[in-house]
Amino acid sequence: MPGAEESTMTGVQARHQVALDEGRFLIQRCEACTCHVYFPREVCPHCGSDRLAWVQPQGLGTVYAVTTVRRKADAGGDVNVSLIDLDEGVRLMSRVEGIAPSDVRIGQRVRARVADGLVVFDLEGASA
Ligand SMILES: [Zn+2]
Repeated sequence: MPGAEESTMTGVQARHQVALDEGRFLIQRCEACTCHVYFPREVCPHCGSDRLAWVQPQGLGTVYAVTTVRRKADAGGDVNVSLIDLDEGVRLMSRVEGIAPSDVRIGQRVRARVADGLVVFDLEGASA
């Protein structure tokens, strides 16, 4: 179909980013099969329904995998890249802030926070 190529920034992804820019972290919940969906999309990847509603997650999750990306100090120092499983059952790539990158461990409980239009995580129970 000529001209039908989607841009990478679809409507739902743009809306997701607008919410983030306002400091709100939203994921989707499929009204047909009740699965949560993230990253946002037009159609449920589990059942194909387009009845995806925006919901605010509890924000609690567990570190599933962690990588430390080594950088020189003058480039900002090491950064942590983590895969976080939200309690809603979706996984996202983010980072855990507030502790040294090498102190992030699989299984740690973390809480989502929006910073500069990005979802980042703090250790649950840590004073912010
Ligand atoms: Zn579904």
